[in-house]
Amino acid sequence: MFAAVFEDNYRTKGLRRNLVKQIENKGIRDTRVLEAINNVPRHYFFDQALLEHAYQDKAFPIGEGQTISQPYTVAFQTELLEVEPGNKILEIGTGSGYQACILLELGAKVITIEYQKKLYEQTRKVLPKMGYNATFLQGDGSQGVPRHAPFDRIIVTAGAPIVPKPLIEQLKVGGILVIPVGDNQRQKMVKVKKIEENKISKKEYDLFSFVPLKGKHGWGN
Ligand code: SAM
Repeated sequence: MFAAVFEDNYRTKGLRRNLVKQIENKGIRDTRVLEAINNVPRHYFFDQALLEHAYQDKAFPIGEGQTISQPYTVAFQTELLEVEPGNKILEIGTGSGYQACILLELGAKVITIEYQKKLYEQTRKVLPKMGYNATFLQGDGSQGVPRHAPFDRIIVTAGAPIVPKPLIEQLKVGGILVIPVGDNQRQKMVKVKKIEENKISKKEYDLFSFVPLKGKHGWGN
């Protein structure tokens, strides 16, 4: 995982434009999200020998049994999140850091938490070298991160059995949570809006297939 040298050239920029077209054809309409996908060199997250995989609209293994999400899925979740510049966003499931880069491109302040120590160590070292600066944490994100709460937005990039209550509690009023919820095979994308302190709205979208959310409010250890 991760390219040895971070170099973005004519070829990789062209491949990325094609990827953006594919995602647009699948229904992503938010031009800011498409622009963010166009700006983040996804091949930086791949070994040089795997360059051709970087610009296919597919998830890809990143080690430790985890994946870098499919670009369309990243775009779908990001569009639902309605990111505004300056938003404080909690991402649960740092993985490769690709989704965090997309949120940073949109002008957000990103706090991202990863369960697996090795992935956390790798990603927190590499992202700043690519020019992306977030707050990296290690631990069980299914409980949120109370010491950094409240958040304008929360995005969960692993499949949960339920919408964890602490995540709703840690959202600001007017805030949005996007989380895949279902069994450990398939999950519906769910968007939760916190309308008032004790009132939420909830909308369900398409089915996706994420790796399981671990931890207390996930599928356990
Ligand atoms: N957002 C990632 C990216 O852009 O590459 C993709 C994430 S991958 C589909 C899901 C990640 O969630 C995995 O790295 C996994 O270890 C992590 N994860 C699972 N349960 C977690 C938890 N309770 N807290 C934090 N991270 C968790």
